[in-house]
Amino acid sequence: MFRRRPFRPFRFRPPGRPPLPPVAPRVRRALRRAHEALARGDAAEAAAIFHRLGEEAERRAMPLRAAVAFAEAAHAEALGDNPQKAVEDAGRAVEIAAHLGRPGRIAPAVGRVIEALRRKGYEAEAAELESRLDAALEAAGTSRGEVAARLAAARGKRRGQLPPKCEACGAPLLPDEVEWHDATTASCPYCGSPVKVM
Ligand SMILES: [Zn+2]
Repeated sequence: MFRRRPFRPFRFRPPGRPPLPPVAPRVRRALRRAHEALARGDAAEAAAIFHRLGEEAERRAMPLRAAVAFAEAAHAEALGDNPQKAVEDAGRAVEIAAHLGRPGRIAPAVGRVIEALRRKGYEAEAAELESRLDAALEAAGTSRGEVAARLAAARGKRRGQLPPKCEACGAPLLPDEVEWHDATTASCPYCGSPVKVM
């Protein structure tokens, strides 16, 4: 089989990226509604909002935000027993991130979708999504193991803890998924609000 040469754009970037611009207040309110819906167990409502935000971000040429929103729609779909839709939306997130040359950026969020599918007993869908993610990572010259090692190394360099939730949009803040700018500053991957470690 033809194997692409390893290509690792992230190696040549300076550590810490400039923050993405924060989203509009209307989008922040929609995010809050989606995270609240998920917290009270209304996965279908959460999925619908995240999906809509993903499409809107895509239309507005904000691909990374779109990928994050589609991955989150997929997570809600997995929790809400809609495994086919979860694979479709998470696959879209992988595709968008791969197109940006950053499939590793979305790997932790898609990993959460894979785990949720497995926990719910949707093994075939979990395996399908896993192979799509692996293919995108391989095409970018990396792998899930390498992404995990990179995240673990980054975790080791940080001090303090993230607050559990984003104050602006109510999203849970996961250390492997927020955008880090330096050892103590990050921004929310959903709404772009700055976050300080405690
Ligand atoms: Zn936020």
